Amino acid sequence: MTGVTVALRMIRDRIATASGHSGRDCAEIRLVAVSKTHSPVLIEQAMAAGQCEFAENYLQEAIGKIQNLAGSGAIWHFIGRIQSNKTRDIARHFDWVQTVDRLRIAQRLSDQRAVDAAPLNICLQVRLSDDPARPGAVPADIPALAAAVSQLSRLRLRGLMCMPPVETDAAATARHFADCRDLYQSLAVRHSLDTLSMGTSGDLEAAIAAGSTLVRVGTAIFGSRTSG
Ligand SMILES: *Cc1c(COP(=O)(O)O)cnc(C)c1O
Repeated sequence: MTGVTVALRMIRDRIATASGHSGRDCAEIRLVAVSKTHSPVLIEQAMAAGQCEFAENYLQEAIGKIQNLAGSGAIWHFIGRIQSNKTRDIARHFDWVQTVDRLRIAQRLSDQRAVDAAPLNICLQVRLSDDPARPGAVPADIPALAAAVSQLSRLRLRGLMCMPPVETDAAATARHFADCRDLYQSLAVRHSLDTLSMGTSGDLEAAIAAGSTLVRVGTAIFGSRTSG
């Protein structure tokens, strides 16, 4: 058994335990393995252990891996910052984009998504801290953005994504997750949302307790990153 196989088993156990504590079914929570900076060999090991969804932050690096693993059945999520001159490649290579925070980017992704491809799944990234350096749309702007994005023909709005500030303590992190959940619930019925993407290696228990339906786990599966 590889290190990745063991680590995936431990993460699935953590998800099951955390769901149990909240009276939730762990089948409601999807695990996306964040493979940024890690080699296709490790991704193949994860796939052999039953993991099929992966997330990447850096476009050039990601495209190489996606092409390397073409035909493997892997599902790819883009979770990095989106520059407008990169939308064409993102729309072409990915199944999900979780970091949409403005309409102009969503419009470009929709215009550039191939007509014969499935609609691109979208999560809006919510900015939960006052730090202007953090990406995401502020909560007050999310309802209008959701309404506009849900009209775009080549996109399918699935939900919201958030990433609490690194430096916050456990109570503040729980509050950020609860705020994102409240916002999600206020929009879920109107827009038929099914995805609340929150929780990483260090805080997936708190995220699941707050209602997360998708956790993005990197370090705890693949080990520490040398860069990024
Ligand atoms: C890198 C990254 C993750 C994974 O974080 P880990 O702490 O390695 O689990 C999750 N979400 C986003 C947006 C990331 O950039």
